[in-house]
Amino acid sequence: MPTGNPTCSVASHDAARTRQQALAADLPVRLTQAVAGMTAAGIDALVLTPGTSLRYLTGYDAMPSERLTALVLPAVGEPFLLVPELERLGAMSSPAVRDGLELATWSETENAAAVVGARLSGPADGTRTVGIDDTMQARHLLRLGEAMPGVRQVLAGRVLDALRLVKQPAELAELRAAGAAIDRVHARVGRWLRPGRTERQVGADLAAAIAEEHAEVDFVIVGSGPNGASPHHSLSDRVIESGDPVVVDIGGVLASGYRSDCTRTYVVGTPHPEFVALYEVLQAAQAAGVAAVETGVTAGSVDAITRAPIAAAGYGAAFPHRTGHGIGLDGHEPPWILDGNGTMLAPGMAFSVEPGIYLEGRFGARIEDIVLVTADGVEPVNTGTHDLVRLPA
Ligand code: ZN
Ligand code: ZN
Repeated sequence: MPTGNPTCSVASHDAARTRQQALAADLPVRLTQAVAGMTAAGIDALVLTPGTSLRYLTGYDAMPSERLTALVLPAVGEPFLLVPELERLGAMSSPAVRDGLELATWSETENAAAVVGARLSGPADGTRTVGIDDTMQARHLLRLGEAMPGVRQVLAGRVLDALRLVKQPAELAELRAAGAAIDRVHARVGRWLRPGRTERQVGADLAAAIAEEHAEVDFVIVGSGPNGASPHHSLSDRVIESGDPVVVDIGGVLASGYRSDCTRTYVVGTPHPEFVALYEVLQAAQAAGVAAVETGVTAGSVDAITRAPIAAAGYGAAFPHRTGHGIGLDGHEPPWILDGNGTMLAPGMAFSVEPGIYLEGRFGARIEDIVLVTADGVEPVNTGTHDLVRLPA
């Protein structure tokens, strides 16, 4: 936080570095777990391109581009990280390479996909299966397919989703730090949100505050008045009016890559009586959802328990989205807190509980916390008030 106190910022920087060292220490275990998962799933190799799965296994925060960067992780044999020659220095400083992961490079005139294909050579008889990064660019996917004829391609998520679903202690520490960071931004919303300002102006102030508290801004939603009824409304030039409810959903990314995501609904001036009643229903539903979180219950049951009070109040159709999503290196990842999802909650899972009620043409409200599943219950990482925050008009 920019308190002007250098001791504080040095201390928080040191804390962040200590946490990042803890994350790096987990990388060898993750690689071992990925290999075990591949073996169990009958997958011969994973090919991961820049994105959160590559970062999860190597700590390498590579930028997706037209040039192929890939972690190649065979079930049997040594993994390697292939990068374009111009990315060599950056890749060398990544935690896994510093820890001994082989680094290979390709030059501008080489066919990088062919380099991968040659290293993974085997019978082209349809008996080999390669797990492809879920977010691989189509151009790389197709070139790899040509370079590995007869190889069956499946999504690497089949192996990695299960690993990433349960966070290790160092990841949970990141999510707690991210939650505290975004809570500090919400605590300052009253400085910026007032009638006469546009959503975009408020959003710019929020973005600056998010950037102060994180390494980068992930997203900013300021849904005022009727715009609050669109769950993923972003920012507009609408001028905030007295009496408006305003949905503020914001998130940032820490230097480690772990994310925050928190929604609070504010009101400037005196709200419509129906909004006050609606908000009470929502607040009770969100509290019921969080209270339902514990080891051994299903993700789908948390959705049902959150949804019930909203439906009972006659607003069932006004809550059209799932109750929540997992969070970690991705802002949206498993587990999906969704009707019918039989995923059993377990210690180390992290996800949002974020019911909303949206009345088209009028207003909307949402309350969102990130929660961690613990051995004996639930730990919300966002601790700001859930009461309707009334700001002066
Ligand atoms: Zn959100
Ligand atoms: Zn969310």
